[in-house]
Amino acid sequence: MKFPIEKLPNIEFKINEPMSKYTFTKTGGNADVLAFPKSRDELVSIINTARDYDIKITIVGNASNLIIKDGGIRGIVIILPNFKQISVDGNVVFAEAGATIIDTTIVAQQYGLTGLEFAAGIPGSVGGAVFMNAGAYGGELTDAFLSAEVLMPDGQILNFNHEDMKFAYRHSAIQENGGIVISAKFQLAKGDKEEIQKEMDHLNALRRSKQPLEYPSCGSVFKRPEGHFTGPLIIEAGLQGKIIGGAQVSMKHAGFIVNIDGATATDYMDLIHLIQREIKQKFDIELQTEVRIIGEDKK
Ligand code: FAD
Repeated sequence: MKFPIEKLPNIEFKINEPMSKYTFTKTGGNADVLAFPKSRDELVSIINTARDYDIKITIVGNASNLIIKDGGIRGIVIILPNFKQISVDGNVVFAEAGATIIDTTIVAQQYGLTGLEFAAGIPGSVGGAVFMNAGAYGGELTDAFLSAEVLMPDGQILNFNHEDMKFAYRHSAIQENGGIVISAKFQLAKGDKEEIQKEMDHLNALRRSKQPLEYPSCGSVFKRPEGHFTGPLIIEAGLQGKIIGGAQVSMKHAGFIVNIDGATATDYMDLIHLIQREIKQKFDIELQTEVRIIGEDKK
């Protein structure tokens, strides 16, 4: 069943849209229908229509932690580039889900608010960062999170506080409840603008020196297994530099898989499975993916 776009004539939709245009890996098949709601009302009407017609909904943020399989995504895919507003009230920063977490850290710095510096270089959206409890350099979204507005599958908008979110390592309650984050608030503290900027610059320089930012990638592919670091395990297994199709285990950071030459999502998946098999065989460790893998295999 196709999403009945004719029922919502004011909303922008793209049909059969290549998702490789949006993903950070530059891979992925087509979305049957990609929706660009401009307001909460439009978003709610998409959700309600999808529910009425029993059509699967997929929400995509900045697509920096996503592998969309080469067969693409059936149903309706929603993306929120029109939800970009960021504002500040006292020590609280409000950001809509489609704003980037990087822009949110820049606004916090401009207002002399400290607490989000760790996220200065995380290339996700606010919605995706909350969903993932994104983190870096000793900080996690949970540390600064105050609350979020979440559109639930039944069409209700609920306010989630810190406890409701059940944050854990790269986990939030949104991963189980099918909600869509519409906005989030971060509780920060007064700080020194220059010190905040210095810390952000320092972390970004560190990132540039350690991560293969010159190639398309989806960041760290695997979660850190307890008691180990993924990169060194992959190096010890002799897999750094391993190439399948156009995808390569990064020579700069073995926890990343980079698209060096027109990789497909299948190349990514094959390399991920190879790494998981070898790490299990050599060290008896089960590597779990941090990257979210969605969509269908190519027929
Ligand atoms: P997407 O990749 O679009 O989606 C990820 C998941 O979030 C999907 O399941 C999607 O359905 C869901 N989602 C997205 N938006 C919403 C929403 N509004 N409501 C509900 N669900 C939603 N991550 C880190 O944690 N730390 C890092 O240091 C880091 N460094 C990175 C460096 C590079 C070069 C790259 C490419 C990625 C890196 N990442 C890192 C991964 C990624 O940026 C984060 O996981 C980020 O939080 C994902 O946000 P996104 O908007 O891109 O989400």
